[in-house]
Amino acid sequence: MTKYIVVAGGVMSGVGKGVTTASIARILQEYGYKVTAIKIDPYINYDAGTLRPTEHGEVWVTDDGGEIDQDLGTYERFLDVDIPKENNLTTGKVYKTIIDKERKGKFLGETVQFIPHVPEEIKRRIKEASKEHDIAIVEIGGTIGDYENIPYLFAMKGLEREIGKENVTYVLITYLPIPSHIEEMKTKPTQQAIRLLGETGIFPDFIICRAKRALDNIRKKKIEIYANIPSENVISEPDIETVYSIPLDLEKERLGIKILNELKLKPKKVPNWAEWKKLVDRIKSPKKSIKVAIVGKYIDIGDYNLADSYVSINQSLLHAGASLDASVDISWIDAKMFESNDDKIKELDKYDGIIVPGGFGSSGVEGKIKAINFARTHNKPYLGLCYGLQLAVVEYARNVCGMKDAHTTEVNEKTKFAVIDILPAQKELMEKSEYGGTMRLGAYAAVLKDKSRVLEMYKETERLKEDAKRIEALKKDKSQSFRLGVLDTQENQRFSGSKRFLRESKNVVLERHRHRYEVNPKFVEELEKKGLIFSGYHLREDGTKLMEYIELPNHPFMISTQSHPEFKSRLGNPSPLFYGFVKACSKSK
Ligand code: GLN
Repeated sequence: MTKYIVVAGGVMSGVGKGVTTASIARILQEYGYKVTAIKIDPYINYDAGTLRPTEHGEVWVTDDGGEIDQDLGTYERFLDVDIPKENNLTTGKVYKTIIDKERKGKFLGETVQFIPHVPEEIKRRIKEASKEHDIAIVEIGGTIGDYENIPYLFAMKGLEREIGKENVTYVLITYLPIPSHIEEMKTKPTQQAIRLLGETGIFPDFIICRAKRALDNIRKKKIEIYANIPSENVISEPDIETVYSIPLDLEKERLGIKILNELKLKPKKVPNWAEWKKLVDRIKSPKKSIKVAIVGKYIDIGDYNLADSYVSINQSLLHAGASLDASVDISWIDAKMFESNDDKIKELDKYDGIIVPGGFGSSGVEGKIKAINFARTHNKPYLGLCYGLQLAVVEYARNVCGMKDAHTTEVNEKTKFAVIDILPAQKELMEKSEYGGTMRLGAYAAVLKDKSRVLEMYKETERLKEDAKRIEALKKDKSQSFRLGVLDTQENQRFSGSKRFLRESKNVVLERHRHRYEVNPKFVEELEKKGLIFSGYHLREDGTKLMEYIELPNHPFMISTQSHPEFKSRLGNPSPLFYGFVKACSKSK
């Protein structure tokens, strides 16, 4: 049976509840357990797909096409596992299921009420998401005292009653402020958080105390008395340099063993943190350092939010850097800057590499194209992600293939050279369904070209092997197997017309997507003739080839992908393209 750890936050948000939850999960994984993490977002939005990224941070995309808040991303980055969208609960999802069921008459005349129906649906979802795991860690979004997380706390308490206290442990993460005028750490807000949590019938088994400094014994004792838990279960978690050292720090307080004891579990193996520690040491004191410019559309937002809107790219560069013993210094550059002043583009020369990330709409597009042109013509390593691939194709069409005013129809519908376009099948979908429905979302298989540099990178980082296993699993999951396209079905004979495709299909990888437009198949031949290499494609069930990767020969690194490889980067298991990019940047330095 699955055991549960419920994590709630006291005092205020933004103290690192997500990374602490992920760290606890990582620790228990190191003791040999199969662990998953579940995030509860008490808002009424169905998912994060329609949330403003500049306010809520980047939208995380799962393999199975979910659009979720960042926390699932944090869990994946720490645990190095793929977490499905069902591991995210929102109030919107819970109520929608109940109302849909009611409309179908499934309640057989019952009055549908908050209690019991809402907590029942919450428990059903949590059990479903945690099945096949030894331990599930459930993070409740928001802060204790918020009205909207009460149903979830109630549901968890109900789950405890069903399965017994020895199978459920509660962790409260609080914050201890140190007001600058007295320079003294205050425990009062934590005491109040304990009391508020107590009102829901829940008493924490562990209290993790976030603060600027480590907690002293006097304060530990104070919290012990107030919360009625032994002070060894009051854990100090002071500010640190990198979030990846949190599991190591919590283990210094033996948190893993203490939680296992609480859940009546024994370690299944002796933890070995050597590799993780090596990576953390490299993050803290890297041998070399490179400078990367991320050229995007940034309107009226400060540095803090910027990093938040591109968390995954940030993290991917960090992971690649950790594996290569390099730190990556990121500068966010507003693409518009290159549009108004021709000389500005030269400023890109001081960077070791350039990235154009994903994006939507026309703002800053010409500036991004100029930056791509600069990278191509100045031998600067360039990594294009999604929109960054589409605009690299536009740049190449215009400046190498002589297709004047070539464009994506997202920006110029009337262009004679619509090298990026919405494909016919998708147009139909768009006319029929709502806006959100037409995105290509989640993981899709790509067949990589023999001898391509992209293939080399997937081999070097061993992702090719890992993805081969993922593909086997996908074949078995009927609801998701469309993500493979026509691999290994009778259809591929029909489209490839020979056994060639089968042979090629050895080199298949999976990356996540979130976009509408595609490289227009009509222009592929012409672009190829002029030297652009399409190094990977997805073959859709209707026979359409969707281009997934491009690369240029005779350039240190001019590689782009239609996907978002940043969603598949983990510490100790970096994304192949980011790995290759950082390596190229440190070489060209
Ligand atoms: N706007 C482009 C599209 O919809 C790219 C999207 C992206 O970069 N995520 O196809």
